[in-house]
Amino acid sequence: MSDLTYDVCIIGAGPAGLAAAERLHAAQRSVCLIDRRAHPGTKACGGGLTQAALARIPRDVISTGRPCRVLEVHSAGWRSRIHTDTPYMTLADRTTWQAQWRARLIARGVRIHTETRLLHLTKNGVATSCGHITCGHIIGADGPNSRVRRALGLPTAIGSIALQLRHTHAPDAALLPAVWFWPTHFGAGYAWRFPHPDGCRWGVGVPTQTHDARALKAAFQHFLRHQSLDETRGIREGGNIGCHYVGHRFGRVWLAGDAAGLASPVTGEGISQALISGDEVAKEICCPNYRSRAIARLGGQHRRTFAALAGPLPGARLLHSAAWLLRIPSLGRTVLSRFAQTAPSKIDV
Ligand SMILES: Cc1cc2nc3c(=O)[nH]c(=O)nc-3n(C[C@H](O)[C@H](O)[C@H](O)COP(=O)(O)OP(=O)(O)OC[C@H]3O[C@@H](n4cnc5c(N)ncnc54)[C@H](O)[C@@H]3O)c2cc1C
Repeated sequence: MSDLTYDVCIIGAGPAGLAAAERLHAAQRSVCLIDRRAHPGTKACGGGLTQAALARIPRDVISTGRPCRVLEVHSAGWRSRIHTDTPYMTLADRTTWQAQWRARLIARGVRIHTETRLLHLTKNGVATSCGHITCGHIIGADGPNSRVRRALGLPTAIGSIALQLRHTHAPDAALLPAVWFWPTHFGAGYAWRFPHPDGCRWGVGVPTQTHDARALKAAFQHFLRHQSLDETRGIREGGNIGCHYVGHRFGRVWLAGDAAGLASPVTGEGISQALISGDEVAKEICCPNYRSRAIARLGGQHRRTFAALAGPLPGARLLHSAAWLLRIPSLGRTVLSRFAQTAPSKIDV
């Protein structure tokens, strides 16, 4: 790469970076995306897309997916089944939809450099493993371990850590998506089972306030044993989740998605927040007087959530109680509408 010049250089071709590129290109800004991976999108992920996420991915990009209308909720001593008329989540393989979105952007003239790693920020752009890029603005959409965020001198975005076992064979068609709240093992975190058509994903996510990597591993192994799953029969993967938001606008440097710490500290859902913030940051770049209310709302929600989890009731008890309330139809409706934008039609206890 010889020295290239763009209006905006986006670091990271995940959901946040793709959404930002889409908006900037539509606003006729010259934009380039770099990603250290050869195939961005191959990171560990449950692949669950809420309505908010689906609504922000171009329609021609997602061709397949499993819409989910029933959720099993398990906890110590009880289990319930929540039914919804419209899907509360769609399970879709992000490797595929991210690749299709990249192809769509490339076809429109956006430059995407894969296998290109950000090294450091410079006075007038970014130094990468493949050369220098000169640009007016830089968007750090480089995930929870963001190098851009570190270059700004900000504290880590990481608020949760997760481990997952991914099967590579089709699951039993009757297997439903499920979540487990076991405060003694997962604290204020939870476990999930997401049966994708090409293989089920079983994971555990926990807050870093209460669990380090070793405690997460113990909780994950306990979960796998309980489900009679053999860890060696599938792909074991893991990752961090960025949920500490301290701002997204730092002069000509911007943060979006997990790099900005915008994933949910409760559910670990981060794709919709990445799509929203990528788009909103791009709008702020294009219109200097625009201030994103959506990002302010997400940041405010996170601050209140952390305050509640650290409050007089320990976070684990609080989440466990909230899960129990899902069994009461009126409250279940409020909780699901808040997190998945879909109200339950029936709850079996
Ligand atoms: C196990 C697990 C399961 C999850 N399941 C779900 C789920 O079911 N639903 C949901 O909504 N969320 C889920 N999440 C959270 C979700 O994956 C993230 O919130 C989301 O991917 C954030 O998108 P992003 O674009 O901000 O960052 P990312 O998707 O992390 O993308 C960042 C990109 O930046 C690139 N990059 C990083 N550093 C550099 C560098 N130095 N130079 C160049 N490129 C770089 C990376 O290669 C990557 O492609 C899960 C997370 C984990 C860990």
